Amino acid sequence: MTGKTITDPQLGDIVLRKSRRCRRLSIRVHPVNGISVTMPYVVPYAVGIAFLQSKRDWVISSVARNQEKLAKTVRPAPEEIDSLRTRAKTELPRRLEELAARYGFIYNKVTIKHNATNWGSCSSKGNINLNLSIMMLPEILRDYVLLHELCHLRHHDHGPAFHLLLEHVCTDRLLEAIGQGDKDAVMLSRKIACSKARYPVDHVLTKEIRNYRTM
Ligand SMILES: [Zn+2]
Repeated sequence: MTGKTITDPQLGDIVLRKSRRCRRLSIRVHPVNGISVTMPYVVPYAVGIAFLQSKRDWVISSVARNQEKLAKTVRPAPEEIDSLRTRAKTELPRRLEELAARYGFIYNKVTIKHNATNWGSCSSKGNINLNLSIMMLPEILRDYVLLHELCHLRHHDHGPAFHLLLEHVCTDRLLEAIGQGDKDAVMLSRKIACSKARYPVDHVLTKEIRNYRTM
């Protein structure tokens, strides 16, 4: 198997995959892994791209359907929220403490919020607020949210210093997760390797998190 990734201004990253076993072109729109075109080994990439263009409307509607589905699946029933809150109040502070200790951050206190529109926030006094919805995220995205807020303890804006620190700690965490066989981390690191953004880790993880909604 060999392949390459192209970036479409509307559809985002698209993986073109050549397979020796593949006999005909096919397109897959996956809710988490994104859009991929599988093609026979001998077919040029340009043909795969043209094939994708010919099915563009279908791809767009599939992406929209997936996003709707995802948004629904991450929203728990009202009776589930209580147990989620109980778990969040133990698990999120514990995880925040672990990450803070590992990367040398010191925060004041942590509060778990519900009904917030942001995933988290960090005050100038070093108080961190975390959204209950973080519990619905895959582990690596949960840690990304926590690390983002921890980095704000040192840099209160989203300037270059903040981003360099965030890239550094998130890369370290991703490598650890890949070593532990975390499938999400493996998939995300492939996207990061193909990203041309200035801060590729943040770019890819921020995009990924848009597949989920706060509640
Ligand atoms: Zn921020």
